[in-house]
Amino acid sequence: MKEVQLVAKLPAYTKSILQALNEAGYEAYVVGGAVRDLLLGRAPGDYDITTNARPEQVLELCQAKGWHTVDQLGHNFGCVVIVLEGEPTEVTTFRGERYDDGDVHRPAATWFCDTLLEDLSRRDFTVNAMALDSKGTLYDYYGGLEDLRRRILRPVGQAQVRYGEDALRMLRACRFVAQLGFDYVQDGVSGSACGMPATPYYLTNVPVFPVERCRGLSLERVRTELEKLLVSAFAGKGLMLMRATGLLQQSCRVRHNGADHEVPILPEAEHLLGLTQNPRFHLYDTWEHTLLAIDNSPRELAIRWALVLHDLGKGLPNVRIIKPDGQPSDPGHEAQSAIMAEQILRRLRYPEEFVRLVVWLVAQHMRFAPMLLTGEKTLRRWLRHEAVNGPFRTQAQLVAGYKQLTEVFLADMGATHARENQQLMTEGRSLGDQVIAMAQSSMPIATQDLAVNGRELLELVPKNTIKETFAYLIERVQSGNLPNEHDALLAALKKKLARQERRSEQSSTDVAKA
Ligand code: ATP
Ligand code: MG
Repeated sequence: MKEVQLVAKLPAYTKSILQALNEAGYEAYVVGGAVRDLLLGRAPGDYDITTNARPEQVLELCQAKGWHTVDQLGHNFGCVVIVLEGEPTEVTTFRGERYDDGDVHRPAATWFCDTLLEDLSRRDFTVNAMALDSKGTLYDYYGGLEDLRRRILRPVGQAQVRYGEDALRMLRACRFVAQLGFDYVQDGVSGSACGMPATPYYLTNVPVFPVERCRGLSLERVRTELEKLLVSAFAGKGLMLMRATGLLQQSCRVRHNGADHEVPILPEAEHLLGLTQNPRFHLYDTWEHTLLAIDNSPRELAIRWALVLHDLGKGLPNVRIIKPDGQPSDPGHEAQSAIMAEQILRRLRYPEEFVRLVVWLVAQHMRFAPMLLTGEKTLRRWLRHEAVNGPFRTQAQLVAGYKQLTEVFLADMGATHARENQQLMTEGRSLGDQVIAMAQSSMPIATQDLAVNGRELLELVPKNTIKETFAYLIERVQSGNLPNEHDALLAALKKKLARQERRSEQSSTDVAKA
């Protein structure tokens, strides 16, 4: 065991809990993700503690100290949550687990055990199986520190056994690869390679996973891991592992109306690997281009999902053509991708609003490039069309949508030869800025987006015409010939009303004359 200079980095409330347990005669350690993150110099999300004290003994201690605890309602076996300085800490009693074939994720039996070693042995990866005591001694029975140094993610024990116990660990493996950027290693690798050697996603040894066990996992769990993966710094690497092992092509399950339904994760992405593209624009195949685009983009779920899905339509028989020069092309692939994106996100049970946004990003991702060659008028026409027909209910949503679309476009372009063309990227960014500014200044969608309110309008127009009055003002502002400013809006409305008045006076004199 090693001494490490980490205790000083622990928050005061964590140290207090460790010390209190020690003073009461128990062993206590910070364990798992927090130790890993501290050793990596990253800020841990939370500090989990493991101890040989039984839950009732932990509770007793908390009562004596006057510490607030949260009732776990038996959700988490042997776990007491202590809230100190407003921060919750899970204090879990050393635990052993046994699995059988009944459930692909949950243990058939759990029990309290006496040693740290046994508790650490149930943990998934070596880098997650280290413990730190209050004196700064690191307990590392499985070589986690060395694996951190070598930047590898390795299961504790035999991979097949560990994934045979809990299938979720396969998804966690891909998620940790995505979060840490480590290479995944396990005993008994098959030795087959995956990807193009020139890319950062190339795998020399694809591990064999019992991926069919994924079928028993709930969609909720799979989605949680997938989302953590997608918003990670090395998402492309994690996705490549999912694709290469076959996890991505697997199904999980969702319970609906009392029955289990199979939910494919993302088999639609399978054909992208090895799908060649015109080398004039592309360095990579479609899959590795997709991964690079994802890694180029801000770590926001909607943007990441849009990029995962943006080229799914490429290479499909109804999309792909071979040009006279013999090169492949996929005209209209974005429409096909959008159709697929909608099916996929619905099936993965995403909320309607999220589905509509991501589908819009996918459908629009090719619209930016031609706009580089046009003027403001065309840009406004596009923006207006999307303000009216897009998935946005407010101007703020439209602005946010165009910000995301700009990022999708730049990430996509940055994953092609255009990356070398800095000028094109700069022009793309300034086009994005321009369209966002236009959306911000002059693309109201909802009545609240206008700089006048209903009460003010009712002083000028009858109640039954309020809706059309709002519509008139919104349209005027959107068309770019009226600023969305309080006085200007009212002046324009008054002018219109005066015009109407004159017209109706005119027609009544006409009628009188006749
Ligand atoms: P995060 O930063 O996402 O919180 P973490 O490593 O803390 O990462 P958790 O899911 O919070 O991960 O789990 C805490 C610890 O519990 C892990 O570090 C690991 O030691 C152990 N663990 C969690 N889930 C499993 C699992 N399915 N199988 C084995 N060990 C697990
Ligand atoms: Mg954690």
